[in-house]
Amino acid sequence: MKNTYRSIFVWGDKHEENLGKGVIELVKEKFGYTNEDFQQQYMFGDKEVILEKPCSFPEKIIDQFVEISGKENVEKSDYARASHAMGYFFAELLLLRKGAINTPPDLVIYPKNEDEISKILQLCNRENIAITPMGGRSSVTRGLETSKGGISLDLTRHFDNILEINEINQAVKVEPGVYGPVLEKYLNAHSFTCGHFPQSFEYSTVGGWVAARGAGQESTHYGKIDDMVLALKVISPAGIIETKDYPANAQGWDLNKTFIGSEGSLGIITQITLKIRKYRPENTAYSSFVFKNFESATTCMRKTMQEGFGTPALFRISDPEETATAFKIKGFDNTFSDKILRAFGYHSGKRCLMFVTTEGDSDYTQLVKNKIRKTARAHGGFHTGGKPAKDWLKQRYNSAYMRDPLMDVGIMTDTVETAVPWDKLLPLWKAVRTYLETRDKAHVMAHISHVYENGANLYFTFLSPMKKGVELEDYTAYHKGLIDTIHQNGGSLSHHHGIGRTLAPWMEDEMGKTAMELMKASKKFLDPNGILNPGSIFGENPDE
Ligand SMILES: Cc1cc2nc3c(=O)[nH]c(=O)nc-3n(C[C@H](O)[C@H](O)[C@H](O)COP(=O)(O)OP(=O)(O)OC[C@H]3O[C@@H](n4cnc5c(N)ncnc54)[C@H](O)[C@@H]3O)c2cc1C
Repeated sequence: MKNTYRSIFVWGDKHEENLGKGVIELVKEKFGYTNEDFQQQYMFGDKEVILEKPCSFPEKIIDQFVEISGKENVEKSDYARASHAMGYFFAELLLLRKGAINTPPDLVIYPKNEDEISKILQLCNRENIAITPMGGRSSVTRGLETSKGGISLDLTRHFDNILEINEINQAVKVEPGVYGPVLEKYLNAHSFTCGHFPQSFEYSTVGGWVAARGAGQESTHYGKIDDMVLALKVISPAGIIETKDYPANAQGWDLNKTFIGSEGSLGIITQITLKIRKYRPENTAYSSFVFKNFESATTCMRKTMQEGFGTPALFRISDPEETATAFKIKGFDNTFSDKILRAFGYHSGKRCLMFVTTEGDSDYTQLVKNKIRKTARAHGGFHTGGKPAKDWLKQRYNSAYMRDPLMDVGIMTDTVETAVPWDKLLPLWKAVRTYLETRDKAHVMAHISHVYENGANLYFTFLSPMKKGVELEDYTAYHKGLIDTIHQNGGSLSHHHGIGRTLAPWMEDEMGKTAMELMKASKKFLDPNGILNPGSIFGENPDE
């Protein structure tokens, strides 16, 4: 069957993964699963999509949208509406598996040009119709949930052009619906790179990167998307705002920053100019280390960032649980290399893996590599060569494919991330671990993968058997406690996934009342009727 719920939620290009031997053993060991448990097809979602809620628009409204974008670009089939109703937040995946889409959009529209977007916005504004811009639909924060129905504005069909590369200025101008691999292939052919590689790279778009304020796996060197945007064009109900591609300016406050992270709540981003960097893969230097514990690994990371000799591109450490899990899955335990590590005091349950690459001019990469090796040695890091880091990069997007087969056998699997200054990092890591492990049968892993002079992110992955029959309630309560713990321990609500509807309830406490009023006033100016992605960032009832 083609038009199933499963075909909507399976991650990526419907490239389904099986659980490998190592993962099966881990699940058996941690959760007491038997071979029979792996035969389940738990909430498999293989039913055909049939929505209870029909499109609520009168024909005369539909006709007006058709007149603007053409019949072939206005869809109202159940399948089109269902597949544009939400993203990849764990609770959304549960709803899709259950076939419970309560607030689908009324129409999906694929605009062809900016003039059409302006007209669609005007019509929505006049008729008070909600409108949610969408790229790759990989949001993990309920950032796309069409809680008020309305229009899902899909920018991937026609707004997917690379408009201009300027090699002198090292800049590329693109439309928002360009997918990561398309952009990178184009830039590499011109000997440049974008340097933005989120784990969702294969299936996310430049517009989504900017609107959700994301970070790629090499952000330590290339920066977050915030650091890459030179100029934007945004269409809002109040009019068009277009910033210029100055390398820097001091013209009042920075309007790019207003729209970076606006998550579709202030306008539709239609053009983006990004910085690009030279692409010299032949110069990349790879290193891997094992540290005796998380404390020494994080100190090495901090020193590396603060010494001023340059920054790695990929820079990540896994905490002891994540390291032990990786070693187990890869079949490393009890090998000759494992025995050597243990003989030197690098014991499972404490030791931590670090992967490092440096990119750029060859003198620079060699210098930074050597300095990092020296810093690692000073903190007890055991150098294990470049191959483990190289191998990790080859499968850098793959762990995301494990989520579906784990959910198929009834296992909750989710990730949460935060940013934290160095002096709060270890206490926060311990507090979050303690909280997550209060749950019976939880397997918790963490890593650091975006590193700054002043602090770093922490990224937690947790697995636990779902409570059957109350999966959603159970998950929601567990997740709330998790965000409360991060918030109370000085971590940001998000480092790179954004806010969406999931984290909106914490926003006022995080930002402060006056800051929220300022943000709401800007929204009120740009979107006076509150039609743009209502519920995201500001919550469902922003005026309360
Ligand atoms: C497996 C997996 C791994 C992930 N890993 C990472 C990671 O490593 N780093 C990271 O940063 N994120 C990650 N994410 C989250 C997600 O991929 C990012 O937020 C990504 O930037 C979203 O891009 P998208 O094209 O899918 O946007 P969408 O999900 O379609 O949209 C995201 C938000 O942006 C808004 N939006 C989209 N396009 C526009 C536009 N043109 N104008 C205005 N608003 C717009 C939407 O309304 C929505 O609020 C991951 C997600 C998954 C599922």
